[in-house]
Amino acid sequence: MTDRNQTLFDRAAQVIPGGVNSPVRAFRAVGGTPRFVQRAQGAYFWDANGQKYIDYIGSWGPMILGHGHPAVLEAVQKAALDGFSFGAPTEREIELAEEILKHVPSMEMVRLVSSGTEAGMSALRLARGATGRSKFIKFEGCYHGHADALLVKAGSGLATFGNPTSAGVPPEVVRDTLVLEYNNITALEEAFALHGKDLACVMIEPIAGNMNFVRASVPFMKRCRELCSEHGALLVFDEVMSGFRVALGSAQSVYAQAIPGFKPDMTVLGKVIGGGMPLAAFGGPREIMRQLAPTGPVYQAGTLSGNPVATACGLTTLREIAKPGFWDALSARTQSLVDGLKGAAASAGVPFSADCQGGMFGFFLLPELPQNYAKVMTSDSPKFNMLFHGLLDGGVYIAPALYEAGFVSAAHTEADIAETVRVAADVFKTL
Ligand code: PMP
Repeated sequence: MTDRNQTLFDRAAQVIPGGVNSPVRAFRAVGGTPRFVQRAQGAYFWDANGQKYIDYIGSWGPMILGHGHPAVLEAVQKAALDGFSFGAPTEREIELAEEILKHVPSMEMVRLVSSGTEAGMSALRLARGATGRSKFIKFEGCYHGHADALLVKAGSGLATFGNPTSAGVPPEVVRDTLVLEYNNITALEEAFALHGKDLACVMIEPIAGNMNFVRASVPFMKRCRELCSEHGALLVFDEVMSGFRVALGSAQSVYAQAIPGFKPDMTVLGKVIGGGMPLAAFGGPREIMRQLAPTGPVYQAGTLSGNPVATACGLTTLREIAKPGFWDALSARTQSLVDGLKGAAASAGVPFSADCQGGMFGFFLLPELPQNYAKVMTSDSPKFNMLFHGLLDGGVYIAPALYEAGFVSAAHTEADIAETVRVAADVFKTL
């Protein structure tokens, strides 16, 4: 049988760099041929050979309801009939903004954009504009999109290629980017002692999904909050991945449970809020958000921002995930996957650790959960690659790199989880 995935990949490589429009899709880290998706439904997709897979990527997070959810499909079809894009405001943009703010009360205003990169880049510009300061802190292994100033030790797709940064980014542009180790309180305190008065913000993935799945510890987050407040720097939560994915109130609601009164100053969102359409956002308190054009001096704009089809998709997705019982069911499903994998690994004597929150999970071929990027990268990568291909051959699609998180959707059934664990158990025995 000819492998249509290979045929398509060869053809793609002639006209698209590396054959893909986003690097991690190329299977560079794990080897082999990327699966070209023909169609998807619920928790599954089918590749160009007609092979079915249980999908634990879900477009890298957005597909929290699974593929082709009927209410979402209906809303998107209806919106498309009314027009694709106007370049003028619509009521649905207000509805989506109101829906987001209702669940994430640290934000009083929100601006809609089209990608997480755009949202992160704009949030940084706004933090700098609002504070009048240039320097900021980010953490090794956190990815905030591919804007120049943020492309330093960014984990994820960049890790594949071993680039601490990217060619084409002038050193001047990252001169004010301070990169610290995640979960390292001492390094944070030292950086504030040295640069506190010059810091515009600390940007962080609170539950990082770009070095697999690593939580900021509660004491570390508490210290981030205290130091930012003491020094007049803004705490910017990049919740592009964790937002509406780990909880309805996003990761900040998880930290607010552990740290009374906790909230970030600004929040960056993407993925789930667009339900699979190009949509992202950033928001915060009114006095900061009013610094944006047209009311303030910080410029930001977008031809397709607040796109009517994308907002229909995102709004319907958010309304579905706000229904009673949704989070209990999703969390239980994700937990049963994690528990099942842990059990299967233990039976096979494979060192293994795993964690999850809401519909997001991560696992490591390490005996203990890592706390930072360097620890994540001590994972056994040849073994991970064997695991990845074993799962793939068994019809289970996880991220093709050991430093990526995974996603369970509301469409995954207990039977899907059981099948996944069964396939994984067989693969663990061969590691
Ligand atoms: N921030 C985080 C935390 C992300 O995970 C991503 C994408 N994976 C981005 C920003 C960039 O978003 P996009 O790919 O939509 O530009």
